[in-house]
Amino acid sequence: MESGSHHATSDERADAGRVAAGPARGLVCRGCGAEYPLVAQHACFECFGPLEVSYDPAALARVTRADIEAGPHNIWRYAPLLPAGQDPAGRITLDPGLTPLVAATGLAAELGIHAPLWVKDDSANPTHSFKDRVVSVALTAARGLGFTRFACASTGNLANSVAAHAARAGVPSIVFIPADLEPGKVITTAVYGGDLVAIDGSYDDVNRLCGELVETDEFEDTAFVNVNVRPYYAEGSKTLGYEVAEQLGWRIPAQVVVPMASGELLTKIDKAFSELVEIGLATAPDGGWTVFGAQSTGCNPIATALHAGTDTVTPVRPTGIAKSLNIGDPAAGLYALEAVRRTGGWMDHADDDEIRAGIRLLARTTGVFAETAGGVTVAVLRKLVESGRLDPTRETVVYNTGEGLKTIDAVAGQVGPSHRVKASLRAVRDAGLLG
Ligand SMILES: *Cc1c(COP(=O)(O)O)cnc(C)c1O
Ligand SMILES: [Zn+2]
Repeated sequence: MESGSHHATSDERADAGRVAAGPARGLVCRGCGAEYPLVAQHACFECFGPLEVSYDPAALARVTRADIEAGPHNIWRYAPLLPAGQDPAGRITLDPGLTPLVAATGLAAELGIHAPLWVKDDSANPTHSFKDRVVSVALTAARGLGFTRFACASTGNLANSVAAHAARAGVPSIVFIPADLEPGKVITTAVYGGDLVAIDGSYDDVNRLCGELVETDEFEDTAFVNVNVRPYYAEGSKTLGYEVAEQLGWRIPAQVVVPMASGELLTKIDKAFSELVEIGLATAPDGGWTVFGAQSTGCNPIATALHAGTDTVTPVRPTGIAKSLNIGDPAAGLYALEAVRRTGGWMDHADDDEIRAGIRLLARTTGVFAETAGGVTVAVLRKLVESGRLDPTRETVVYNTGEGLKTIDAVAGQVGPSHRVKASLRAVRDAGLLG
């Protein structure tokens, strides 16, 4: 290590983590249950399983609806249920959250759903995807742990969000992406400054590289939001569960349809619902809630495992237009399978044509323009209704996690002006446009 610059030692990081922890009690291995303090670590020393934040049940139980409702109009209203951000001054954030819950009556009618159908539209976040939630929580935790540079491996949206958060906070960032990402995600990352490293390889190659970099001395000061501070990152996804429940008047919806890349978002929405019910903040629907997962056909290792009735998620080499979901070796695949099986749900996948149709269907019936991940989710919603897996008489929330303008090429060749006429009244009349 160079002399002259101060680097937080891991002991200092551990102390900072404990001080800022709020209701979080420690990290626990999802594989073997081994417990760790709140440090920057994502894998278990015993079994290499992924670590997850665990909470002090008494601290969670003290949280009231009034506490939350009195909070800011963003994810930090749920700070009493999160592992970071209890002190507003310590937050690194663009203040994402409280995105619209859109009543999708037109979509419901078109799909034959005879119960309330909602689109949780997370394209409304500051960098236009749900990743702002996880990044705000991860980077706030990272600062508390003493890190001075922010990094990630990204399928696109995470890159946008990390670069923007770092710019807001005035902290250097280094973002790693596969070189073939959509221009709409490269440009919207690069514009914030910071280092942006395009790697010749897939996301899984990029992620593996980051796993090596994080172990080097040169990166000792660097928080990789989805590697060494991943347990904190993952918790940010819970806010997509809390928010939907609060927006429904503190009710858990009967069914949710969630896009899957690593599978983490799906597991955390389910975890959020469980917490809310356990601490008495929200009521569960009769018969409990049911969780459905959506992947693209070009990258469907988790859905394939479910369909095969196995716990073995076999990695794939991703293809197809839903690049934000293209994780071929999904870290939380096993836990997504568990949540879907436990709640009586299902998973399905949609090919590129179905994804494009899903984007257009959602836009036409709700006024929400989704990126390809949203197209996947809507296309899978349609399949779940058609196959009878999803109950069309139960209230359903479908998650749109990103903005259509970032993947505009997906539909660019399919839509355009419906008419082209001269600039005269007569031409407009002749085209039959006067009604
Ligand atoms: C990252 C991402 C997801 C899913 O994330 P996981 O938690 O890894 O499953 C879904 N939608 C969009 C648009 C994303 O960028
Ligand atoms: Zn373990």
